[in-house]
This record gives sequence, structure tokens and C-alpha cells, in this order.
Amino acid sequence: MTPDQKDPTINHVDSAHQGHDEEAKKDARFEEIRKNTIIEGLLAGKNLQEIMESIDNLSEMFKRALDTVVCADGRVPATIDGVKLGIAGQGILLPPEEYKKLVEVLKVSGVKTVTSHDGCGAAGIVYDKMKEAGTLPKGINSSDELGRWFSKKLAGDIGAEHYHISMEEMNGMEGEHGKLHEEQGVWIDTTKRANPAALSKKDVPPVYVASGAGFEISEEECQKEIEALAGISLGDHGFGKRFTTENPFYFIISAKDEADLAKWTAMAERAASKLNGRVAVKGFIVSEEIQKEYFDKK
Ligand SMILES: [Zn+2]
Repeated sequence: MTPDQKDPTINHVDSAHQGHDEEAKKDARFEEIRKNTIIEGLLAGKNLQEIMESIDNLSEMFKRALDTVVCADGRVPATIDGVKLGIAGQGILLPPEEYKKLVEVLKVSGVKTVTSHDGCGAAGIVYDKMKEAGTLPKGINSSDELGRWFSKKLAGDIGAEHYHISMEEMNGMEGEHGKLHEEQGVWIDTTKRANPAALSKKDVPPVYVASGAGFEISEEECQKEIEALAGISLGDHGFGKRFTTENPFYFIISAKDEADLAKWTAMAERAASKLNGRVAVKGFIVSEEIQKEYFDKK
């Protein structure tokens, strides 16, 4: 064998070594990313209401109307001046009757932009199904194209603009845009107002954002959505086995009142019960002061 030829034994050792490095890097990153007010507070046994009220600028999270439909995927931010309204695949997974309801509510919610993004898992699921069934729209040859097509259609149906977010514009580990799912939970907002990205990273960890509950999406569809999102993080695309009963992934619910909190907590508990005790459900009620000051405003 000449020195130019690749020795498969050496390659094998290299890749095993690389796999080990990759895991160690993920361990370190996980530890780092758990360091924030919410996760540390929950792990210390505080209740979420108390934790949220300890965040000085909490009202920032509810100041602006959610005006940009974005995938629930935590790697995808809203456009530069937009505020994220998160739904998996921008709603591509919804059955037709739920899509119709969503269109009606978005039409009157002041949504300005519907985005799509590179490498969308939800678009991928629908693409595979449509390809199999031979029902893909004409000229669509990839899941990214399908994601764009769907989001353009939704934008048209509600009278908004469409914008496509490239992999370079997505969040992720430094230098590895969009590769690892770093989400520590799903933020299930039932108030129509929560924008977790408005708070500091020292207070709020990376999360998936599921805003559908405030926009007429049913408990059934919301449950499917959060189960799928948690599944990503509990598997190889996320921090996987690092989430345990003692160190769980979270379903975090923001609500306007006790009734909403109870209803959506029950939904989240049903989803969590399928996830082997590795997901904990926590919720809080937004204060009357914040609701009076900001809710129902643009
Ligand atoms: Zn997506």
C-alpha cells in the first residue's frame, strides 16, 4: 500500500475517535445550555410561576404581537424585525379542516409574513407521503421545494408575504449552523403573545415554539405536534439520552388563566405520558399587569 492510498483500518479508528469526540462535545454543550434561570430553577425544585416572576424583563416576552409564521423548530428565528408565531412546518402537517380554521384566524391576527426554511423535518414527512401517493404538486421535486410551495400558499391565503430562511440564517452550534437540535423544551403558548426569543439566553434555554393553541389549533393536533418535536430532541438529532427523569426535557405552558392552564397542561401530560418519563410538564399564568398593558395590542 502506498502512502497515498487510504488505509481502511486507520479510517475506522479515526471515525470511532471522531464519534467519541462528538459525544464529549455534546456532553459539554448540554451542560452549558442547561445553565439558565428556567432550567436551573426547575431542577432546584422551584415552581415555574415563581421562576418566571423572578425574571426582571419578563414583560418583553409579551410586548409585541406574533406577526411572522415560522416553523416550531427552535433553530429557526423569525425574520429580522418579525416576531415568531411557531407551528411545525408552518402548518403543513394539519388536516384540511384545521388548515381552514388556521387561515381564518391568521387573516385577522395581523400576520405580515409566512416563512419556510431549509431542511424542514415537517415538510420532509409530508413530501415522503405525497411522493408515495403520487399527489405532489406539479414541479415539486424536494421537501424544501414543498415547504416553500406550502408557505407561499398559506401566505397567499391570509394576505401575507412569503420569505424563505436559508440554513445560514438558522441558529445552531457555532460554525455548524442548524445541525444539532439544542432545544431543551417546547414552549406551548396559549396566550397568542409569548415570544421566548425576546428574553436573554441566560434566562431562557433554546426551545421549540408551539403557538398553535392560541390560534385555534385543536388539542389533538397540538398534542401530535409536541410529541413529534420532543421526539427529535430525545433522539439522535438532539441531546438524546442526556434527557432523563432526573434531568428532563420540558413542556412549558404559558396561559392567561387557571382554566386555560389546566386544559393545556392535561393535553401536555397526555403527550408526556408517551415519552418514558423523560419529559416534565410545567406551566405559569401571565400576570394581570402584563395582560392589561400588552395583550390585544399590535
Ligand atoms: Zn421546519
